[in-house]
Amino acid sequence: MPFKSLGLHPSLIRAIKELGYTEPTPVQAGAIPPALLGKDVMATAQTGTGKTAAFLLPILHRLLALPRGMTRVLIVSPTRELAEQIEDVCRGLGQHTPVKSILVVGGRPMGPQQRAVRTGPDVIVATPGRLLDLMNQGIARLDRVTTLVLDEADSMLDMGFLPDVRRIISRLPSREQTLMFSATMPPTIASLAKELLRNPASIQIGRRSTTAVGITQAAYPVPEHLKTALLRHLLRETEMPSVLVFTRTKHGAKKLARLVEADGFTVAELHSNRTPAQRTKAMEGFRRGECQVMVATNIAARGLDVDHITHVISTDVPDVPEDYVHRIGRTGRAGAEGDAFILVAPDEEGSLARIERQVGHRLPRVTLPDFDYSSTAPKASPGAGKKGRPGGRSQGAQGPPRSPGGRSGGTGAKGPPHPRRR
Ligand code: AMP
Repeated sequence: MPFKSLGLHPSLIRAIKELGYTEPTPVQAGAIPPALLGKDVMATAQTGTGKTAAFLLPILHRLLALPRGMTRVLIVSPTRELAEQIEDVCRGLGQHTPVKSILVVGGRPMGPQQRAVRTGPDVIVATPGRLLDLMNQGIARLDRVTTLVLDEADSMLDMGFLPDVRRIISRLPSREQTLMFSATMPPTIASLAKELLRNPASIQIGRRSTTAVGITQAAYPVPEHLKTALLRHLLRETEMPSVLVFTRTKHGAKKLARLVEADGFTVAELHSNRTPAQRTKAMEGFRRGECQVMVATNIAARGLDVDHITHVISTDVPDVPEDYVHRIGRTGRAGAEGDAFILVAPDEEGSLARIERQVGHRLPRVTLPDFDYSSTAPKASPGAGKKGRPGGRSQGAQGPPRSPGGRSGGTGAKGPPHPRRR
């Protein structure tokens, strides 16, 4: 089903296209039609299912028919990171509309947020504590809010925010529509839904993303200066029909793309230094399988929806665990299998530990027996320009295929996962 058939405003369809979304995900197909009609929605869906656009698209569509200048939509999120992501998606989807959104979150200076709230933005994306502060100061006036979104309601419960959330809701006299999203449905959330929602459309989407079923993860400890060499080694030695490589910076992405290309791979680049046309071309090339490797930054890869990605390799450890979850959610789509590798320098272990807490288990550590970890300088590729042909494993002078797996210091019950040849 194309997005067009949902009856969304053309300016939203244009943004959807530019973000690279091809068709609605199941939670979007389920939630958008009733939400467009103004109905309440209760959706059980995790991060990685497309839930953010599932509530933002109908919200933006309905806002377009109304005059600007007052806050009509409040989105409450348990964490600052999630709120930032939601607001980011809101700006992305609303880029061709006059709709204005702002963030109200803790850990940031109060002044700019006070000023922003006073301007009467259409949408406020907030964490409960800071929002209550601004409400108590009489600055956030939410008496015209008609649509309320509670995102990750179960996390709000776990983090002890429900009393704050109730306080906020009690001060929304004009609330007409409530959209509630939760990864799980513990009894407290079920009864909250019963209390807040009127005759809601119920959507239940299976587990995905966090420790996503079908995605095998592994961490490769390596000194920072050898990361590029290790990545090139992995690409040469492991059959990776379609691989998405993440770098922290756009400059890093560009440099890496050149090197991998010199190794004989077809490479696409996706980062914010590229024009929209270049990005679309890169995405199309990767989607159609004309490029085996896509090198991308986090931001640029947000809307990437390619079914056949077999490997996601992170060359840095994101500071925000959610970013990692988003990255690995790019593979294993639609129930397929995928591998997610992350290259970890010694000083990134702390960030990795945070990710492991988020995904709920320790990632197996893999050390490659045939990679020179003691080298002081970045290693030149011995196979540059000759090996690692797109779509296949290269052996050449490397000898017969190794048995799968490096030396794994892993904890996973699945055994040494990587590298494996397909
Ligand atoms: P979420 O579950 O909202 O955190 O979204 C997970 C990821 O899926 C985000 O990176 C979105 O940009 C992306 N996404 C959302 N909807 C679609 C879609 N229809 N097609 C492709 N990607 C999507």
